[in-house]
Formats: sequence, structure tokens, C-alpha cells
Amino acid sequence: MSVSPSNTSPATGSREPAPADPRPAILIINCGSSSVKFALIGTRRETLILSGLAERLGSPEATMSWKDGEAKKAKSLPGADLIAALHEMIGLLPGNVQVVAVGHRVVHGAEAFSHSVRIDAEVLASIERCSALAPLHNPANLAGLRAAMTVFPDTPQVAVFDTAFHQTLPQRAYLYAVPYEWYQTDGVRRYGFHGTSHRYVASEAARRLGQPLESLGLITAHLGNGCSAAAIEGGRCMDTTMGLSPLEGLVMGTRSGDIDPSLQEFMAARRGWSLERIMRALNRESGLLGLSGLSNDMRTLVEAAEGGHARAQLAIDVFAYRLAKSISALSAALTRLDAIVFTGGIGENSKFIRARTAESLQVLGVALDPALNDVHGEPPSGRVSQTGTRLCLVVPTNEELMIARETLSVLNT
Ligand code: AMP
Repeated sequence: MSVSPSNTSPATGSREPAPADPRPAILIINCGSSSVKFALIGTRRETLILSGLAERLGSPEATMSWKDGEAKKAKSLPGADLIAALHEMIGLLPGNVQVVAVGHRVVHGAEAFSHSVRIDAEVLASIERCSALAPLHNPANLAGLRAAMTVFPDTPQVAVFDTAFHQTLPQRAYLYAVPYEWYQTDGVRRYGFHGTSHRYVASEAARRLGQPLESLGLITAHLGNGCSAAAIEGGRCMDTTMGLSPLEGLVMGTRSGDIDPSLQEFMAARRGWSLERIMRALNRESGLLGLSGLSNDMRTLVEAAEGGHARAQLAIDVFAYRLAKSISALSAALTRLDAIVFTGGIGENSKFIRARTAESLQVLGVALDPALNDVHGEPPSGRVSQTGTRLCLVVPTNEELMIARETLSVLNT
């Protein structure tokens, strides 16, 4: 989370005077199966007022941790469910803040949603219909929506979809070469995810470069626990690496990314595994964790590789090579490439991964400046590339801020 700390303007760093009127704020909710992440963002200066996480909900170990300004706090909430956690969170809200809207992260909007929308009964039903495509995520997001509507009955609620930004993909990019009726009758196609992050960093890159987004061709690489890259031209997403589900594309913490689909039949025959067991292996036991046998956490792997751990090194090599290969492939979706943008926990913080990736992008004219890469980008642009080479930037993502902006813009339309 990188919204600026409470009361501090991201643009100027100046302190906001304590206003006499209530401070309008947007509450951002991101609900998982047993957890809820929340953030409260003041609308006047886009300041982060409060952020936190309630987890292990419904169990005796339920806890809530939060950051209030610079102070980190936590308490246990044995047996608390989602509604109890939201009530607990309300108790944390500063008295001078008025929640003017709640913005919800919703993972899958399928083809039904190409924009953020205000929630009503019809929208809820439509999100429910998308659940078949995201059975782990959408039901949890819906539970969050319903709980927030109970706890904040008079406050407008807005859904912001991970997939919406990718709805501009042309057919040639979103169709798989499988029987066409699979698309028509079952919705089998590339949807793409992390759309809120890709959209935010693209607009932030344009702002930092002082150029209109409409005039730029960009490839954005969101590298966190989940990883995806997107080709964006004129502010419209033209292609992306994640597909029907977030399993496709780049190597991730525990997800395999691209594989030969026949591998599933092969492993079923070899091991007598069910489809469910194989999918668990591809989603939770693969990626960096599967290759290294050590960890899904890139920090751990970089440290281990520096200490001579051969499989940590191998996992990093595969990760960086596959990323470079996808970036090269995505360039086919663009008529111009003005910058490659790194973001997410790994993209923002790992000079090592950026450098390894850049080594495999020489054909695209990429050459990083080691000194700029060491400091994660030259202020204010975030440039890490040498002058006169393909521009590469590090731009921290801020999905909560993007959701707050989207929520506000839906309210104002
Ligand atoms: P995110 O999901 O965006 O929070 O990113 C999580 C990933 O970022 C994990 O794999 C972390 O190990 C990785 N990460 C965070 N900081 C660093 C760092 N300094 N070097 C390498 N990886 C990092």
C-alpha cells in the first residue's frame, strides 16, 4: 500500500489543515474467503487515513491489524465474522471522517462489466453470475459487498473489477484457438486480471513523463505474489498475460503460469491424480516455490541465490527469462513502445530481478543503468534505463487509490 500517510498530500508532502467539516473519505474493501483488507482514503487530498486487515475470520484465531498514521496496532477478535470485523473497523474510524462511499475490489466482471459500477440488485445478480469464472474470489467479494451494505446501509457502494481494464482487448488477443462455441456458450476467453494496477501505473507513468497517456505505448509488468504484464496503447489495454483465470502467463509465487495443457493428462496418468489435485499443484505448489523447493517469496530466493542455493537461482532464472519473453511477445500488440514499467512488490523493490530480466531484452534495446536501478529509479520519473536506450521505469502501484478514484468518479456520474 503506498498511498501517502495520513494528512500528507502525495503531490506536495504538505500537511492538510484540520478542517472543521467532516473529512469526506472513501472506504476501500477487498474481501477474501476469510479475510478483509480495508483502507480509508480522504478524497480532498487523496490521503491514506487508515489501513488494515482482518484475517482468519470465523475462527477462534481471528485478528485485526491496522495502521493508523505511522502506528501499527493489532487485536484478536475470537470468532468474529465479516460483519463483526466491519463493525470493529468502524470503531477505528476517526470521528471527523465521513465515509461518503464504499469501493469494493471485485475480481471477475467477465464481459458484463467494462467499467466500475454502482451496486444495485441487478449488479449483485450479475456479479453472482460471474462466479463460475472465479469460484474462489467472486463469492468472497459478494460476501464483502453484502456485509458492507448491511453495515453501511445508506452509503453508496461501488464495484471496481480486476478484469474491466482488459475489456478493450481485441478479439485476436482474447480468443483462444479452441472451438469457437466454447467462447459463445461458456465464456472461454482471456479476461486478464490486475487491471486496476495496470491502469494506475500506466496513467502514473504518463504523468511522470509529462505526456498524455493517449499518446503512449507501454508494457506494464505487475510483479507481486501474482504476476501479470499488459500491453497498453493510448490508455487502452491491447493484450495481457493472464487469461481465463489468473493461472496463465508469467511464473508467479506458487502458480505455474503458462504450461502445455497436455501436462495435466500426462500427470493424471503417471500419478493417478484427480484434476483437482493437479490444479492444486499448478496453483499452490508451482511457480517460484515449486522450482526452488524453498519459498514463494522472492526476497528469500534472492538471498538464498546470493548464498549459492542452486535451485533458488534456477527459479529466478526461469522467472526473469519468462518475464522477458512475455514482454517481447506483448510488443506485438503495440504500434509503439515508449516505456516498460515495473511495479508490484518484486518490480518495485528487486533491482536483481529487473537486471536479470533486462539481460534478456537486449533485442528490444533495453539496457539498465546500474546506479539508477540500485535506487529503484531516478526521481521523479522512476527511470532505471540508460539514456538513449529503451525507456524502463519503476512506478509503485497503488490499487487502493485507483479504486478510490474510480469510486468517486462513479459517484460523480
Ligand atoms: P506484493 O504481492 O506486491 O506484495 O509482492 C510480494 C512479492 O514481492 C514477494 O515475492 C516479495 O518477496 C517480493 N518483494 C518485496 N520486496 C522485495 C525485495 N526487496 N526484493 C525482492 N523481492 C521483494
